[in-house]
Amino acid sequence: MGSRFDITVVAKDQISADTYIDAAITEIQRIEKLISSWDKESQTSLINSNAGIQPVKVDDELFGLVQRAIGISKLTDGAFDISYASMDRIWKFDGSMTQMPSASEIKASVAKVGYKNIILNKEESTVFLSQKGMKIGFGAIGKGYAADKAKKLLISKGVTAGIINASGDMNTWGKQPDGSDWKVAITNPLNKNNAFALLPVIDKAVVTSGNYEKYVIFDDKRYAHIIDPRTGYPATGIVSVTVFAPKAELADALATSVFVMGIEVGLNRINQLASIECIIVDDQGNIHTSNTIKIDNQ
Ligand code: ADP
Ligand code: MG
Repeated sequence: MGSRFDITVVAKDQISADTYIDAAITEIQRIEKLISSWDKESQTSLINSNAGIQPVKVDDELFGLVQRAIGISKLTDGAFDISYASMDRIWKFDGSMTQMPSASEIKASVAKVGYKNIILNKEESTVFLSQKGMKIGFGAIGKGYAADKAKKLLISKGVTAGIINASGDMNTWGKQPDGSDWKVAITNPLNKNNAFALLPVIDKAVVTSGNYEKYVIFDDKRYAHIIDPRTGYPATGIVSVTVFAPKAELADALATSVFVMGIEVGLNRINQLASIECIIVDDQGNIHTSNTIKIDNQ
């Protein structure tokens, strides 16, 4: 999936633990085959190559994922949008950009983006991208989905506790062998040596979005690598967003969404959702939390 997965299981011996971990890896690889945009043979690539041409019949599983992704687009007023993949990549975050693109270039870069042009037909189980050149991608939800599925599989096999860690996106269940809860340390990306919170993760997922190394500065404004699919402008003001949710899929998607929505709108939206919490680090190093999180601000 282009990202590293670390799998931890609590089991009675090494051999059974290895068997469980192998099963989880097989499951993650199966999902990758379904949702990868790189694999030309994947159902996702077929949807993309048929954009503006015809609907594509897909597995129920992929249909459901697209349907839930559209649901998150509605929930976030389009801040989250799997058709972000149709964007022209005019922004570079590797230091190679010397000037800001023009307003019209930026606007044009998102002309094909729009979740409302993803047409679903439940009876036929088809997905149709109605505009030529449109594309979808699961970069901000796929890792979480795969982690949820791997967790579900292991629970169904009787594994009582574990962690699926998808490059820092954590999904836990059960307790540690000594009976204590799994805990996650939250660090400030601007001061990595100093974890500012150690929080229990009881049967839920914790996902962080943010790559403080990938950004570009124009006129003293720091533009982050996550782009608002509605405007074409990169998100500003935030260096990392951590979301706690019952499912990794939702946590993954919401972390990216809050990045795009910004501190105020993002926290507002999170505060309206039951069982979902969020911690934001802004580009000044300040920490903002949703209502139910209590940490000592440093
Ligand atoms: P990470 O790479 O740390 O997992 P995110 O979880 O925030 O970062 O996901 C970023 C990825 O999500 C991008 O690389 C891209 O593939 C995809 N993406 C970016 N912006 C959006 C968006 N607004 N809506 C949906 N997906 C997005
Ligand atoms: Mg994400």
